Amino acid sequence: MSKYNFWFVVGSQDLYGEEVLQTVAVRAAEMAETMSKSLPYPLIYKVTAMSNAQITDIVKEANYDDTCAGIITWCHTFSPSKMWINGLTSLQKPWCHFATQYNEAIPNEEIDMDFMNLNQAAHGDREHGFIGARLRTPRKVIAGYWKRPEVLARIGSWMKAAVGVSVSKSLKVMRFGDNMREVAVTEGDKVEVQAKLGWQVNTWAVGDLVKMMNEVTDAEIDALVAEYAAAYDIATDNTAAIRYQAREEIAMKKMLDANGCKAFSNTFQDLYGMEQLPGLASQHLMAQGYGYGGEGDWKVSAMTAIMKAMGEGGNGASAFMEDYTYHLAEGEEYSLGAHMLEVCPSLAAADFRPRIETHHLGIGMNEKDPARLVFEGKAGPAIVVSLVDMGGRLRLIVQDIECVKPILPMPNLPVARVMWRAMPNLTDGVECWITAGGAHHTVLSYDVTADQMKDWARMMDIEFVHITKDTTLDALEKELFLNDLAWKLK
Ligand code: MN
Repeated sequence: MSKYNFWFVVGSQDLYGEEVLQTVAVRAAEMAETMSKSLPYPLIYKVTAMSNAQITDIVKEANYDDTCAGIITWCHTFSPSKMWINGLTSLQKPWCHFATQYNEAIPNEEIDMDFMNLNQAAHGDREHGFIGARLRTPRKVIAGYWKRPEVLARIGSWMKAAVGVSVSKSLKVMRFGDNMREVAVTEGDKVEVQAKLGWQVNTWAVGDLVKMMNEVTDAEIDALVAEYAAAYDIATDNTAAIRYQAREEIAMKKMLDANGCKAFSNTFQDLYGMEQLPGLASQHLMAQGYGYGGEGDWKVSAMTAIMKAMGEGGNGASAFMEDYTYHLAEGEEYSLGAHMLEVCPSLAAADFRPRIETHHLGIGMNEKDPARLVFEGKAGPAIVVSLVDMGGRLRLIVQDIECVKPILPMPNLPVARVMWRAMPNLTDGVECWITAGGAHHTVLSYDVTADQMKDWARMMDIEFVHITKDTTLDALEKELFLNDLAWKLK
């Protein structure tokens, strides 16, 4: 993910004279360099923009440059905003307006009219803010002193969301077969999704995958099984099942990479020519940053890939998840999340080394018992995320959750498991989630925050719904009703 950077564009005008503008440029370069040391991606000072032509040119350049994941603007001096209209109306990259100031404090003795003319961000940034509001351009506004850690953390957080935009716009999803028959929530308008989010979602025949699997060599399988053994405990004698999963993984990875796909889906209803649903294979691909969705759920697969890329080190602790069953005992109400096989080991608790097991899988076309990783998820605050197609628009639903160490050992449960308490509490949380139309499939993340998903949704121009510890069903119903009206007018 180190290919991405952000551009620092500083607004001004030519009335100040060469000396002031030179000072602005030197300071802007210093600020970008210093801030970059505390940010997840480099911030590169580009220009002190003084005219419509300069601003339009830098926006054109940003739009064209694949390594530029967004622009950060600031007005050290006053920058009349009509100069910005042509540039901002053609901007195709995420925009953050950073309202800051070079000096932290007002210098009591030194302050005079020269100082005032040079340090005008307080009104420069207001003029700059007006044009963003007037043009309805999606932007993030962050105010604060540029050296303060909490301010830099907010910029860094926004940068990761902006990288999620870049990843989204070039994302290709490989579907092995169609969605599970009759399921509604995994459907969606692929043309609308491509227009809005950039995803290229297409299907490949399971037969092509089987053909690729048959071409995988024993040496390739030996190497991958050695990798499994180094990362996981092997708790089965069924070596053939593990080797078969390795064969599936290698073949899928070759097809994904050959087609530039970072996400895939499959379904247990379409495994023609395969002995096992990919379990361990899908889990190990997810651990490498690929998105996955079960039952042909290409939306959750794409969201998993994007949120992984937004996370720490470009592959954070985010994973495809499914709400499976509830523990409704009074005072200890929890959701149990899992999937029939495919839970990413990035969720594993630090003291729980995932183990490879084989078990019978009754559902689907499995001729043989599939190998899969079994582990417990870690404790801590997290979010679950669901993207649903409301017909005419997309809705992104995020719920805050608190994961706990599973309160039961569940020794006969043959899959990885995560246990959590939804906000505001289990049953109210379920009522809110169901009322909003959230799916049973989600991306669960310990890493990406609700704020980042809100930023991402704003940049993607889609509806955002957040269920928090303070959410009430009444307020949520009202919000959904008003959102419905607003999005129909939009
Ligand atoms: Mn499922």
